[in-house]
Amino acid sequence: MRVLKFGGSSLASAERFRQVADIIKDKSESSNLAVVVSAPQGITNHLVAMAENISDEAKLVTDLGHFNRAITTIIDDLSASISNFNRQHCEQALTNYEQQLTRYMQGATLLTYCPDHIRARIISTGERLSVAILDAVLQADGLAVSLLAPEKFLYTNNSSLNAVADLELSKEKYAIEYSNLSKISLMPGFIGVNADVNSDMPQVTTLGRNGSDYSAAVLAVCAQAECCEIWTDVDGIYNADPRYIKEAKLLDYLSYQEAMELSYFGASVLHPKTIAPIAQYHIPCLIKNTNNPSAAGTLISHENDQQKRVKAISNLDDLTMVNVSGPGMKGMVGMASRVFATMSRENISLVLISQSSSEYCISFCIYSNDSERAKKSLQDEFELELLNGLLEPLALKGELSIVSLVGDGMHHQRGVAAKFFSSLAQARVNVVAIAQDSSERSISVVVEQRKCMDAMKVSHQNFFSHKPTIDVFLVGCGVVGSELIAQIYRQQTSLKAQNIVLKVYGIANSKGMVFDKEGIDLNNWQDVVAQGNNRLPVNIDSLKGFVRDNHLINPVFVDSTSNEALAMSYVDYLAEGFHVVTPNKKANTASWEYYQQLRSTAQKTNRRFLYETTVGAGLPVIDTLQSLIKAGDELQRFEGVLSGSLSYIFGKLDEGMPLSEATAIAKANGFTEPDPRDDLSGMDVARKLLIMAREAGMKLELSDITIESVLPSDFDDSGDVSQFMNNLTQLDSVFADRVASAKSTGKVLRYIGNIVDGKCQVAIEEVGVDHPLFSIKEGENALAIHSRYYQPLPFVLRGYGAGAAVTAAGVFGDLLRTLAWEQQH
Ligand code: ADP
Ligand code: ASP
Ligand code: MG
Repeated sequence: MRVLKFGGSSLASAERFRQVADIIKDKSESSNLAVVVSAPQGITNHLVAMAENISDEAKLVTDLGHFNRAITTIIDDLSASISNFNRQHCEQALTNYEQQLTRYMQGATLLTYCPDHIRARIISTGERLSVAILDAVLQADGLAVSLLAPEKFLYTNNSSLNAVADLELSKEKYAIEYSNLSKISLMPGFIGVNADVNSDMPQVTTLGRNGSDYSAAVLAVCAQAECCEIWTDVDGIYNADPRYIKEAKLLDYLSYQEAMELSYFGASVLHPKTIAPIAQYHIPCLIKNTNNPSAAGTLISHENDQQKRVKAISNLDDLTMVNVSGPGMKGMVGMASRVFATMSRENISLVLISQSSSEYCISFCIYSNDSERAKKSLQDEFELELLNGLLEPLALKGELSIVSLVGDGMHHQRGVAAKFFSSLAQARVNVVAIAQDSSERSISVVVEQRKCMDAMKVSHQNFFSHKPTIDVFLVGCGVVGSELIAQIYRQQTSLKAQNIVLKVYGIANSKGMVFDKEGIDLNNWQDVVAQGNNRLPVNIDSLKGFVRDNHLINPVFVDSTSNEALAMSYVDYLAEGFHVVTPNKKANTASWEYYQQLRSTAQKTNRRFLYETTVGAGLPVIDTLQSLIKAGDELQRFEGVLSGSLSYIFGKLDEGMPLSEATAIAKANGFTEPDPRDDLSGMDVARKLLIMAREAGMKLELSDITIESVLPSDFDDSGDVSQFMNNLTQLDSVFADRVASAKSTGKVLRYIGNIVDGKCQVAIEEVGVDHPLFSIKEGENALAIHSRYYQPLPFVLRGYGAGAAVTAAGVFGDLLRTLAWEQQH
């Protein structure tokens, strides 16, 4: 004999009923079957709503209407698709149950409340209808079916809505009632009867929401079944709830203990009470998919997994933490037992308990819908202690979840808890309480419910999928931004091979940011941004909201503009858990105070502020300097050609090209800013120099930098860009003379930023052939770092210091560094 249980999801429509019938037919060829059914999906919720709304007649009528329509649709569809389907039998059953429901409601209305035993009858009506309908489908298929009545054997305690079965009594009764069963028998799940055997009127009980799994387990024990099969809408038990964790993997085997822990801590695929009976009687349990019967499913048995590993992660929501604390708790024998006795009297189950070692406080989690009762009963129990100040006022904190790691193999394995907690830190989740059972089969943490999915995602990532994510929001799709997107797109295959998931969730132009929760299609991003569906302003609220709603765990704000206002908002993004990556120099050259604030905020929130491309574009300048300084080196002197455009222009002057012509070519090639005055003024170089100086520990402001503009002070640089470019010819001869004069002593002109004796200066300098910057032209940058360790010869970094490709590659490198951070922490 095998027990097969079909859940509500397997009975949600006529088609599903037919699938179920096919499975039963197929399986009955090789074994006797006892089939347990739930109510069709959604039906129990309507019935629960009815029982709760007895005083609201209009609502009652609506709920009854929903109920009727859902069942009628199934009956209609079955009768349309099965030729000899006994529609009348089903309609009659529906009418009878509706009349019964109406009577219960009328009774409850008269009483002005709905007693629990009546409620149990109301909410279990769906299971009875499932039996009637499935019976008709099987009969139409020529299969003889007998019916099993749980009221005749499935004895439970008195709890009408969350009953626990009395296995011994049930076995006894079953043996008497059903000694000889036909090949296929059908039983409504969810239903029991209270164990007052002597009473004339034993009352119907229900086994708790989702309790048909438990019915199947009890039946399997009573019938001494060789296997208990739970048929549902997924291929088996996954290592996390597949609804929320896309990367969840199917588990082939679980031990009874593992399944018990998982279901207890929220894996709703199995009712938590299901496993105990079948474990006790060593009955294997198979989880199967009604939509995919050929899939092997998950086998739960007494086999222990020999591998030392964490098996799965689960989450349980809608919890409240109760704190009972105060000086009266300390050393006073019996306080804990009084607290727990009070909860037990109220039939409130404790999901998790923790006590501080000082005995000052006992904390425990309960389901939130028990919290009012818990508070009231504790207040009554401890009235005197509360009055005398021996206890502090009871503290209840709601909207909590438990996240649990489960696996037999965790036993004696070091580092699991550490990895779990660092995952939580990475997800920026605060841990409210912790519990580990002494068998080391599970570790549970209590967290805020709004952060539960973040905790699940990161933990799943770190323990199972090993696929770190980078969640990008890009502002600015000019030359560098566009190139960055192109590079990310090109690298997708290679990133995939490295198990890195890099998605761009938002791209902003001047009109706002376009979002896509699946990640923007980077092959087609221009159209997506131009169409502008889902466009929102670029601000912390819209980005934060998106990250929260989509549970992104490694958000990176990338600013590829040169916008000052945006730079001044980085601190808000860091504070809200974004990394910030940028080639924009404005933030690092704002006030010293803001500079510090950026760093302290990033540190506080464990996020990174990365700006490698602000100096020397893609050249590894900042990272190198930081490493040197961290290792105890000290910057003594610095000189560098820090501007790609000025490197190009001054190189061309060497060759005898006039200033105006060199500038025009640099502009045409995209080396300069759109307005070349930004480069020629020296401001850009000054900002880079300040960034270097601050990196080296100098507390300077932009105003402390002495700047010699390429444009002399008496030169008229007003007007629009073309006017300016025309006027620039006036400087050609001045520069030709300066170049010739330098040449006469074997030197060239270079636009150099230098740091000497704590002072920063940007100026045109003459350098000789033995100077490290002599040969720097054609857009190259070079940086000569004279330090305590690098002397007398400086450490020189040299290479293209401008251009979309190298800059975007540098930004890309920074994006990947947000991962290195994850792995370290
Ligand atoms: P049924 O109607 O068959 O009783 P349930 O909805 O009660 O189905 O249970 C199946 C659902 O349990 C799945 O669709 C899935 O969303 C959820 N679930 C939660 N955790 C897990 C898990 N670890 N593995 C598989 N399913 C899970
Ligand atoms: N129909 C009941 C419920 O929805 C029992 C079950 O489906 O297992 O809770
Ligand atoms: Mg279920």
